[in-house]
Amino acid sequence: MKIDFEKLGNGLVPAIIQDANTNKVLMLGFMNQEAFDKTRAEGKVTFYSRTKQRLWTKGEESGNFLNVVSASIDCDKDTLLIKANPVGPVCHTGADTCFNESNEADITFLTHLQDFIDQRKQEMPEGSYTTSLFNKGTRTITQKVGEEAIETVIGAMANDDENFLYEGADLLYHLIVLLTHKGYRIEDLARELKRRHK
Ligand code: AMP
Ligand code: ZN
Ligand code: ZN
Ligand code: ZN
Repeated sequence: MKIDFEKLGNGLVPAIIQDANTNKVLMLGFMNQEAFDKTRAEGKVTFYSRTKQRLWTKGEESGNFLNVVSASIDCDKDTLLIKANPVGPVCHTGADTCFNESNEADITFLTHLQDFIDQRKQEMPEGSYTTSLFNKGTRTITQKVGEEAIETVIGAMANDDENFLYEGADLLYHLIVLLTHKGYRIEDLARELKRRHK
């Protein structure tokens, strides 16, 4: 891989570190040729630290290494994109990323949403739409699932991707409410799909 280490005039190129699974940007550091070679050779991200003025293998003290999955260079060869699997929190503050984001796959939000809907069912707070669905019961909830399914299909058939995704989200939310109403969770569907998958 040809890398233009002379672009900035100091032998360094920025390296964007992205989580290989969640696609979150974890941090940004700088590499010189030596840091890049070491990263390549050891499969763990090594930067040239401008503050320490030496090679710095991320995780050398904390053990929170960044295990390299792939490295690529941008169009004009002056910026690296490194996809990696972090061993632990990436930031020295303890945050998952240096941009203070949680490094969770979006799919795990479904579990958070399920927990939230369970809590609504327990507490039934006034003024909540979810509470009103539980109050109205099976007929209303199943009708809503049917409606949102049809709206999703209409969005898909019209090649209206924005609407398709919006209505698909509505469908998933109402399906989770229906599952919860009947004493199940979204994980019960995941388990059934897992069982079928050989
Ligand atoms: P580590 O490389 O995780 O063992 O951390 C060694 C030292 O590098 C820490 O004490 C911090 O000063 C610094 N450091 C660790 N992680 C980061 C980071 N994500 N960004 C900037 N500095 C960091
Ligand atoms: Zn560039
Ligand atoms: Zn940080
Ligand atoms: Zn809808």
